[in-house]
Amino acid sequence: MLYHNTLGRMATLISGLALCWPAWSLNLVATIPPLHSLVVQVAEPSDQVTLLIPASQSPHNFAMRPSMARDLAQADGVFWMGPNLETGLARALSQQANSVALSSDQASNTDHGHHDDHDHHDHEDIHGWLSVRQSQQMLQDIAHVLGQWDPTRAELFERRAEQASHKLERLFPQWTEQMQSASTLRYWVFHDAYGAFEAEHGIDHQAVIQINVNSNPSSRQLSALRGNMQGQTGCAFIEPQLDPRWARLAIGDQPIEIRTLDPLGVAHQPGAELHRNVLAGMVQVFTECAAITH
Ligand SMILES: [Zn+2]
Repeated sequence: MLYHNTLGRMATLISGLALCWPAWSLNLVATIPPLHSLVVQVAEPSDQVTLLIPASQSPHNFAMRPSMARDLAQADGVFWMGPNLETGLARALSQQANSVALSSDQASNTDHGHHDDHDHHDHEDIHGWLSVRQSQQMLQDIAHVLGQWDPTRAELFERRAEQASHKLERLFPQWTEQMQSASTLRYWVFHDAYGAFEAEHGIDHQAVIQINVNSNPSSRQLSALRGNMQGQTGCAFIEPQLDPRWARLAIGDQPIEIRTLDPLGVAHQPGAELHRNVLAGMVQVFTECAAITH
């Protein structure tokens, strides 16, 4: 009887263990939806990846909230782009020992890490998730860091990152080909977020509508923009997080079409697919613009 009971208890214990397997999972935080999407693809479904900044908000002027401090304190690790993107979180995240900045552009100082000097056509852009090549690098970096945090699963993370990278690799030629139609498109970007995307597709904007996303354009900037748009056709791209009236003011009665770019993925469910959906959406808007303004 005793023997039987012990066996029964052991069986219960073992099935209990099996139920909680894997015993070790990571509690991760990622700041913006496209980055969250990349981390979700590299981490396993058993890992938790919390999205910090909803897509409806610009990461450039997003401020820390008390509830976020708890998320950050409880996290095994935090992924962000860097102080020039999530400027409002820069202080908190720079102090967090287990935070990892993934942007290739970490050079500028953080004191005025806004987009002030954003109009310099530097293709080492802080919005690197809009480039396939930079995203593939980010996937590798994420796998590397996760492997340090959980060495027992290092190879698994590498493999998952490679799979995600292959998905991008398969889509890249068709995106490149579609973007050919936009190679001569004249367009204006709302803020200077597209350097990495533009470099990858060999295109460039006419001008930036809101040079500093944290302050309204000056009347001097607006009149320069009007001059730049004078007598032109093409597309002015607004963004869901930023006030579109500056675009309307600058365009006036010029025959320039207004279209929306969605670099953060407002239109998509957060998750593994979001990043690819954001890139596909970018290509779609550019090619539609090229078709209507031809
Ligand atoms: Zn930006």
